[in-house]
Amino acid sequence: MADYYVIDAGAMAAALEKYKSKCHKTIKHRSRAFIALARLNRNALRRFDDLQSGVIAETPDLWKDFSNGKIGKSITGTEIKSAFRAFIASEQGNLCCYCQRWLLNNGNAKPIEHILPRESFKHYSFNFWNLAVACVDCNGLKSADVWVERDKLNVREYPAPSSFTEMYHPRFHRFNDHVRFVRVQTNEHNITLYRGITNQGRKLCHDLLQDIAAKEVLINGNPGMKASLATINQFEPEEGSGLEKALLELQEAFSAAAMKLVRPKD
Ligand SMILES: [Zn+2]
Repeated sequence: MADYYVIDAGAMAAALEKYKSKCHKTIKHRSRAFIALARLNRNALRRFDDLQSGVIAETPDLWKDFSNGKIGKSITGTEIKSAFRAFIASEQGNLCCYCQRWLLNNGNAKPIEHILPRESFKHYSFNFWNLAVACVDCNGLKSADVWVERDKLNVREYPAPSSFTEMYHPRFHRFNDHVRFVRVQTNEHNITLYRGITNQGRKLCHDLLQDIAAKEVLINGNPGMKASLATINQFEPEEGSGLEKALLELQEAFSAAAMKLVRPKD
């Protein structure tokens, strides 16, 4: 028996019920949005079955289609994503699911994170438990990295919460059980030190948080860069607008460039 919290079936059912009442900003669309999501999930699983049995050679990126498309009468993927982002961000206390820094206010800086990356786990693209909200840094740095053992690859059912012994799962675990962090602010610097205290926490620090902390030092050590970033980050463009897209691209490019300095080999 693990000595850390793992979500149980009762808490999972309650969370899903809560989401059901918030899955679309317009009340009358909620039940249809929820049904549409269940349909998308079934469709992703059907593609997985077809792929396994050789009926199809490749699964399309259903999440991308969903993000850009109309889901049903009066419901768009953008609206469902927006409601989901607001719901999960609030459940996470408006902190990034990995680094626990504050999420910026604009939607574009709160990417929906596929915990088991959809490049390798397309059939979990719409699984409620595989989605969280990360910051642009964590989302970009983790990218398509697979943190689980091979026995979780090509499995139809989403792995049970208690089976995630090799990685920190932000929807099934509690961050504080796995990682301790100290944030020090001086006149010139913000420095965060992360320390894993479990197997999962140590792996998260090694795979992600050490580099996130290093990037923070790099940016904050450069006052000009820090001020420019603060200006960019205060924009709140309309969701789905061209400005939002451009800002996200800028943030991602900036994050990737800074990470190159932190992780020169990538
Ligand atoms: Zn983060």
